[in-house]
Amino acid sequence: MDMTTVGIADELGPSKILWIRQSRVALEAFVVIDNVACGPAIGGIRMAADVTVGEVARLARAMTLKNAAAGLPHGGGKAGIVGEPSLPAARKEQLIRTFAHAIRELTEYIPGPDMGMNEECMAWIHDEIGRVVGLPRVLGGIPLDEIGATGFGLAVAGEVAASFAGVNLNEARMAVQGFGAVGIHAARFLCQRGVRLVAASDSRGAVFNADGLSVEGLIAHKQGGHPLTDFSGGISMAGDELVGVDCDIWIPAARPDVLNDKNVSRLKARLVLQGANIPATNEAETWMHTMGIVNVPDFIANAGGVICASVEYHGGTQIQAMAVIEERIRANTSEVLEIARRDNCTPREAAVAMARRRVDEAMQYRKY
Ligand code: NAD
Repeated sequence: MDMTTVGIADELGPSKILWIRQSRVALEAFVVIDNVACGPAIGGIRMAADVTVGEVARLARAMTLKNAAAGLPHGGGKAGIVGEPSLPAARKEQLIRTFAHAIRELTEYIPGPDMGMNEECMAWIHDEIGRVVGLPRVLGGIPLDEIGATGFGLAVAGEVAASFAGVNLNEARMAVQGFGAVGIHAARFLCQRGVRLVAASDSRGAVFNADGLSVEGLIAHKQGGHPLTDFSGGISMAGDELVGVDCDIWIPAARPDVLNDKNVSRLKARLVLQGANIPATNEAETWMHTMGIVNVPDFIANAGGVICASVEYHGGTQIQAMAVIEERIRANTSEVLEIARRDNCTPREAAVAMARRRVDEAMQYRKY
């Protein structure tokens, strides 16, 4: 394998790539450790039939920057297991336990959940090697999706960014794309700060009400297994219309690249809080910057989940996790938006420079 397979390779990393093949159980998996200057790498395991080492390497780099920006004593890494997440439970357990056994001595990597993984999978890894985050509560875990760690962090980022965008939260209207673990809690916590939810979408379509949707009502409806478009408290519309909804805050919390050069000019919001990873293309981020739309990049705004995982790993409690999320995301959002304003650069450029400075400084203290 040459480094072009991986897509990125520079002075930061990757520092180690482990390719695991176990023919007896037909396991194929990879771990990419990007950089461990700040400490052992924390990053999720993605289980998908089409996961590649290049994708895992890009996600590992994102974790290096996210963990450094959040001031965690952890570097960045990520893993991929090739397989359908919907495999029969016994087969999935066999693959995950075999994967865990294969990484038992790779102590620079602390695995966590990503797409296709849940707390139960983390419990199997815990049983094999004891080194994991995202555990069930009975094993000392802090269930980050249940408590809404990432959505809470987005709301904190929103509070700070509102003043940069000239948005008054008490009069603001928000639209949330992707009413799942991140989107639901972002809406809930922002609603507690006075923001009105006027539109939300899931993979099947969107629902809109200019006077405001009931957040609790919509959560109950969604958790009842119904599509948002059937919600009686609003009118349904096509999912791709969400981007042009008249609102002040727009929250992508679903898929990558949903704001791009073809649709970003339809955006009416003055503030974008990136809940999803890489939800906007470079062109879209540059356009937002040019138009004066304040855009808080993913690895600053959505760091609540990994901060929670890190607090869990170090034996902290749920209350401590929420306090650290609040403190770190408040400080980072403010710093990044101040630098972007001062240097007239995009918030992402400011955030990457800030995170890289922290990794570079940590690298000075390392012998190897
Ligand atoms: P989730 O599966 O709980 O929710 C995703 C939601 O998006 C679902 O409601 C789904 O129906 C909807 N969706 C899918 N495709 C859509 C589309 N094209 N248009 C509109 N909605 C669509 O996932 P999640 O955990 O909330 O993660 C959402 C995003 O946030 C992902 O990009 C994830 O990587 C990122 N993220 C999650 C966390 C976390 O703590 N869960 C932390 C950081 C980043």
